[in-house]
Amino acid sequence: MDLIQKFENARKVLEFAKDCEGVSKVKLIETRDIVVDERVRFQCSHSGCREYGKRLMCPPFVPEMEEFKKVFSNYIFAVLIQVSGPSCDVLRLAKLLHEAVYKTEKKAFSLGFPFAAGLIGGPCSLCEKCPTGENAKCIKREKARPSMEAMGIDVIKTCKKVGMEIEFKEGEVTWTGLVLLD
Ligand code: SF4
Repeated sequence: MDLIQKFENARKVLEFAKDCEGVSKVKLIETRDIVVDERVRFQCSHSGCREYGKRLMCPPFVPEMEEFKKVFSNYIFAVLIQVSGPSCDVLRLAKLLHEAVYKTEKKAFSLGFPFAAGLIGGPCSLCEKCPTGENAKCIKREKARPSMEAMGIDVIKTCKKVGMEIEFKEGEVTWTGLVLLD
């Protein structure tokens, strides 16, 4: 697929994402606008996140940042997806974002992006509890995805850079996810 065709198909992916349940904002962005910062990953492990080491799609179980950076450098476009709503609904909204990211990734695949890769927002919450122990394996591997934060993406800066600034309002929550396209 040449670059023009890629761009046209990426716009179709964007239209699809827009119609997913719960989605409030979407944008087709260039991956050079995605801000990756080691401090985000450091925060996962050293700022008291309760899910660290407990969720199989969170650090330390996900690839190291160096590996992600190498993979990431092969992508040009991505679709940024946001789901917003009342903070009392935080878990349901996180699941809606997860579903939207997953379905958009599948749609991208069907539109000629074989390396489409979805990243959710926050810890994977498809199951109430992740299995633990030395040989623990993800129960829903087909659908589980790591978060943008787990990969060291500065979500707040990235959203601001592309004009999808996250407004922190009392009683409201915004989850952001991403689908890398190639
Ligand atoms: S799908 Fe379930 S087992 Fe897999 S990472 Fe998510 S919560 Fe854990």
